Amino acid sequence: MNVLRPLPGYTSLNQICLRILATTDLHMNICGYDYYRDQPNDLSGLPRAADLIAALRASADNSLLVDNGDFLQGTPMGDYVALEKGVAPGRPHPAIAAMNRLGFDAGTLGNHDFNYGLDFLTDTLAGAAFPIVSANVMRRAPRGQGPDEPLLAPYAILDRHLRDRAGDSHALRIGIIGFLPPQITTWDRHQLHGRITTRDIVETAMIQVARMKAEGADVILALCHSGIGPAHHASGMENAAVPLAAVDGIDALVTGHSHMVFPSERFDGHQATDTLRGTIHGKPAVMSGAGASHLGAIDLALERRGNRWQVVSGAAVAHPVNRPHPPVDRKGPGDGAVRSAIARDHAATLAYIRRGVGATAQPLDTHFAQIAPSRALALIADAQRDHLRRVLADSRLAALPLLSAASPIKAGGWHGPDHYTNVPAGKLTVRSVADLYCFPNRIAAVRVSGRDLRNWLERAAGMFQRITPNRPGQLLLDPRFPSYNFDVIHGLTWQIDLSRPALFGPKGQATLHPALLDTAVSTGIGRIRDLAWEGTPVSDDMEFIIATNDFRANGGGHFPGTGPGAVVYQAPITTRDILMNHIREIRMVAPRLPRSWRFAPLGGTAVIFETSPAASPAQARETGLDLRRTGTTDQGFARFELVL
Ligand code: MN
Ligand code: MG
Repeated sequence: MNVLRPLPGYTSLNQICLRILATTDLHMNICGYDYYRDQPNDLSGLPRAADLIAALRASADNSLLVDNGDFLQGTPMGDYVALEKGVAPGRPHPAIAAMNRLGFDAGTLGNHDFNYGLDFLTDTLAGAAFPIVSANVMRRAPRGQGPDEPLLAPYAILDRHLRDRAGDSHALRIGIIGFLPPQITTWDRHQLHGRITTRDIVETAMIQVARMKAEGADVILALCHSGIGPAHHASGMENAAVPLAAVDGIDALVTGHSHMVFPSERFDGHQATDTLRGTIHGKPAVMSGAGASHLGAIDLALERRGNRWQVVSGAAVAHPVNRPHPPVDRKGPGDGAVRSAIARDHAATLAYIRRGVGATAQPLDTHFAQIAPSRALALIADAQRDHLRRVLADSRLAALPLLSAASPIKAGGWHGPDHYTNVPAGKLTVRSVADLYCFPNRIAAVRVSGRDLRNWLERAAGMFQRITPNRPGQLLLDPRFPSYNFDVIHGLTWQIDLSRPALFGPKGQATLHPALLDTAVSTGIGRIRDLAWEGTPVSDDMEFIIATNDFRANGGGHFPGTGPGAVVYQAPITTRDILMNHIREIRMVAPRLPRSWRFAPLGGTAVIFETSPAASPAQARETGLDLRRTGTTDQGFARFELVL
């Protein structure tokens, strides 16, 4: 186990050492169980963290335990409680029950805590045995009925008796204030519109921290459900931890929301941060990943100056919870306490995930998704498109053609022959949905030109090797190209001509001079042919909306036309949730095989395609391609001959 670094100036017996232990973005990982795989997860989660909490409490003179928000949503248990069980007096939310049991001292809210609506949130918080504060969320007053009131207490002042190094006890006032991204009113607009308003994090802090000081707070801890982002303040910014740290009176910060780890090398060179001591603007700060992957620990040393105590030094560490740590003295409840607090809800959640969300008339798999249109991809694309159609209905973007991009995320490659989506016909469960979409990506959409669209498909077509007509024994797939970058854009038709070189390499690097790339279409050197939308050839100046995920939309995979400037919509809703809701709505899934794309004929050239050994002859026939199984590779892939 990592040991906290000794603090500078830790020597004086008059000093008080205060350790703040912090979780953030727990996302309902409170039971040490991976519900998507239906198997225990002992690498992270609150039970695992609880043992570390007990150990770090035992080695501290004084400690506080706080949570930084985004605790109510993120696993099927969150859905089960919100959508099935509900919460009521005497029937607490399991996340709250677990935190009560561990003796949390305070908490704040994150954006996701609003996902199930305001009433559910209010009922849930009523069960907490500790203060949950939030300074920049306001309950909107009805028209003409006075100013907006805070939804929760903006801050709490905890009166605690803390021991100094000599063992003498002193009364201190510890102020805890909370913040979240003001964007919640956009992200959860349908839940919050007209009921909630938000304020800027830094501007709110300036006002409230002064009040806390006036109330005699000796120490002020900011629970900042916001990430470590730009150094300069901009009103309404989402990731405001750096300018917040500069606010006078704040002594230490717990940050979060971006699911990263601070201090860590990732932030080396980031403005105003010190990744060795774990400070931002000289103030100790921590971010402990997500799902209890890490536990944050801030150590503060305080000295009396006049009649007030003040922080004189501090440091922060984010401890990974999955490191085996030697048995040490523990103080307070650990792993077993958490498990017993949530045991009933865990059992009920297991039944819930094994229950169906719907059914499928045909198998949904990715066995041939790299060489032909696929029902599995079509289902994902349909769900994304329907979501976007609803949210864009009132906007001027509704006038543009709406397309939807999906890729075979699980399709062999270096993961091996078992790594394919393979959902049999019949019942669909929560687990099936995870097999269909294994990444926790979120929904997003970009606005692109016809030219971007064509190059997007050229980029995806880089998955294939260049094929020389009539030469036998050529491998079809470029092994350096991950299948999740093979985007199939539903709503278009096109052909891929494998006799031509790829315009983009396996990492997305253009293989041509930009000027040549611009003329690739007119000079006919690209692989994409006959690209059409509803039968109309796609011209460079046409405009489209593409439903995709936040990774791709923001530039993941370096697809032409993507990047923050192109994003017209993103919401903190996972694609998996969108897919699940889509299946629940239609109950029986029967996606048609889309006629989106095919290979241009190559005069009967035979190429080698490798796929899952579970691929059936019936599935092969359904592609409509000239396919013949010829054997098995050393790695265990099924080998097919494909005649183009
Ligand atoms: Mn989060
Ligand atoms: Mg968040």
